[in-house]
Formats: sequence, C-alpha cells, structure tokens
Amino acid sequence: MRSWPSPEHTSDLPALPGQPRPLRLYDTAADEVRPTAPGSTARLYVCGITPYDATHLGHAATYLAFDLVYRLWLDAGHRVHYVQNVTDIDDPLLERAAATGIGWTELAERETELYRQDMTALRVLPPQDYVGVTEAVDEIAEGVAKLLADDHAYRLEQDIYARTAGRFGYESRYSRAQMLELFAERGGDPDRPGKQDPLDALLWRGRRDGEPSWDTAVGPGRPGWHIECSVIAHNRLGMGIDVQGGGSDLRFPHHEHSAAHAEALTGEWPFARHYVHAGMIGLDGEKMSKSRGNLVFVSKLRGAGVDPMAIRLALLDGHYRADREWTGGRLPQAERRLANWRRAAAQPTGPDARPLLEQVRDRLADDLDTTGAIAAVDRWARSAVEQVSSGADPDAPALMARTVDALLGVRL
Ligand code: ZN
Repeated sequence: MRSWPSPEHTSDLPALPGQPRPLRLYDTAADEVRPTAPGSTARLYVCGITPYDATHLGHAATYLAFDLVYRLWLDAGHRVHYVQNVTDIDDPLLERAAATGIGWTELAERETELYRQDMTALRVLPPQDYVGVTEAVDEIAEGVAKLLADDHAYRLEQDIYARTAGRFGYESRYSRAQMLELFAERGGDPDRPGKQDPLDALLWRGRRDGEPSWDTAVGPGRPGWHIECSVIAHNRLGMGIDVQGGGSDLRFPHHEHSAAHAEALTGEWPFARHYVHAGMIGLDGEKMSKSRGNLVFVSKLRGAGVDPMAIRLALLDGHYRADREWTGGRLPQAERRLANWRRAAAQPTGPDARPLLEQVRDRLADDLDTTGAIAAVDRWARSAVEQVSSGADPDAPALMARTVDALLGVRL
C-alpha cells in the first residue's frame, strides 16, 4: 500500500552537531524504563488504524510518540526500518460500512487517504512498508496453516483458533481474571462454546454469507486481528524487533496475542524487545472514542485553519504514556508557543543553542520527556527574544530551528 511522503521528501533529518544519547523507553513487559539497543538498522512496528474514523487526536498522539522514537534513532545514527499495517478488513469496519451505506472498500480507501494526508500535515515520518491486511491475506493464511500444521492451532466449525500456551501473559503482565475481562471488552469471544481455553484467539474467520472472504491455503475466509500483525511484522522485520508500539488499549489482548502467535510460528522469543504503549486522549473527562461520539479529528482542525504544527505541539505537551485531556485551552496555548518559537528563530542572534540541543536530546532520550524538552525550548526562546542572555551567536537561531525540526518534528 502506498505510504505517505517524507517531510521535504528526504529521509534525512536536518544535521545536528554534538553527541546523541541512546534512547530509553518504558517497556510494558519489563515494567521499567530501559535502553533500546538497536543494531545498525533499528526495527519499528506500530499497529495501524482500522480505517473508519481517521484521524482523531488519540490516533495522532500515538503516531506522534513513535515518530519521536524514529527521529531519535535517526539522530543516533541508525537506519530505521518502520512497518505499519492498515486493518482494512475487520468487523468494526464492516459494521461502520453497513451502518452508513458505503461499501467497505470505499470506506477503507477514503479513510486511509485521509490518514495519509493528516500524517503528512503533521510531519510524521512515513513507514517504508505500509501494508494493508487485504494485501497480505495469502501470507497471513500461510502463517495460520503453519500454526495448524505445528499443532499450535485448531479448527472450530469453519474457524481456526490459536492455542494459548507457553509464555502467554508476559507482555501485558495481567492476571488471568483481568485478561478475561479485557478480552471480552476488546473484540475477544471468551464464551464461545468449543474453545479449548476461553482466551484462545481467532486466527481465521471462515467464510460467512454476506461477508468478504478470500480463497486461501486454509480455506475461504479472512484473517483474525492479532495474526495479521504477527505475520506482517515478522515477514518484514524478523523476530526480536526493537519496538512494537501502539495505544495502551492494545496492551491486551492485541499485543499479547500478536506476540504469542509470532513466537509459536517461529519458535523464537521474544517477538519484540520493547512493548511500548501510548496513553489515551480524553475529552471532558472521558476517553475519546467512536462509541462516545466525542472524537476530535485532525482534518477538521486543519479545515478550520489550525496550523498542523500547533496541533503537533499541543499533543506533544504531555507525556506520551499518560492519559491526557484535550481541553479548550490546549490549542491556543500551543499556538502562542509556536508563535514565540518562530519569533525567536527569526532573531538575528541568540544565546548559544548547543546547550539547548543537548537538553532536548537528554529529555527526549529519557522515555520521551516531551514536556521537559518543550520547556527547554521555551526558556531559550524567551532569552533570544528578550535578549537577556550575554550570548549573541548569529548561528544560534538556525540551530534552535533545526533542533526543533529534527527532534520534535515541528517546522518553524
Ligand atoms: Zn497490531
């Protein structure tokens, strides 16, 4: 599937002097902040959208967090191989299509295109592999066939389920009671008769009348949700990927099952070396979600003339792991900040910006402390505009702008 263009159509960040830091991130499986340790090519997989309500601010906040991971690895001298999927066939998409009277393929294409436009406007670096599930049906079916052949899966009527076994549970660290509850809430079917374990996940949904299906190695039907990411990620990145990312609502069951399926398929462990989750964005005290009808869309804000860089800055002003509120004051505050930074970057001179660059690197390398990084830029910008500092470095405003561009992704 076509990805979206890189900002300025280059995969390089603006060059920065000095010494990058190794990126440390909170790993859900280890329950601690610890260094990422990629090889020359860092491998990133982030679960993509189900294209029926693109792109609300909760989505945007998640993809911005992993965009910073990408940028910090580039700054540290790694190449980055980034893979993202599009769940362009799944029950919620079909339900929405039926409810609105639009064909499901048309709905998926329209929303995926909107998402691409929003990501481009927000200057999110694109994945090299942007893979629709509908493009990957055969490779996913091959994975399911292998799981069946190796006795990691079983047929139940026209469907296929994975056996829950081995290290299952290490990723989320939830108790069995918590897992059962979340599984029922988030698309699982713990009560289906005939399953060997209530937590077993659907790998393949056999053909039903009136539903899309594909003829494959395991018969007609379509992939389950978790196996799609296991196969798409593993076939492009291998095992032990550096970061598997997504929203915190994917901690269980999606990331747990995706990891378990990939590990059963390959006999290797772990699927990912860091499991990283971004918090939810709330509105007026409630999680932003389709069912509550309180979604704020990036495209609506852009359509109303809001600078995408202000949207970006507003979403970065808060820790990525924290659930955050989108209150009325956030956007005006980000717009004022953006104007201040632009005024500072346009000064003929400013205080030496090399210490600022080191502070921004230092804060972001510490589990993406964006509020700390933003505060450092605020201090520099104030000094530059008020000319209170003794420094009068003619190169400083440009270096400040490059720092903010490369590491925070904000174009001044
Ligand atoms: Zn996924």
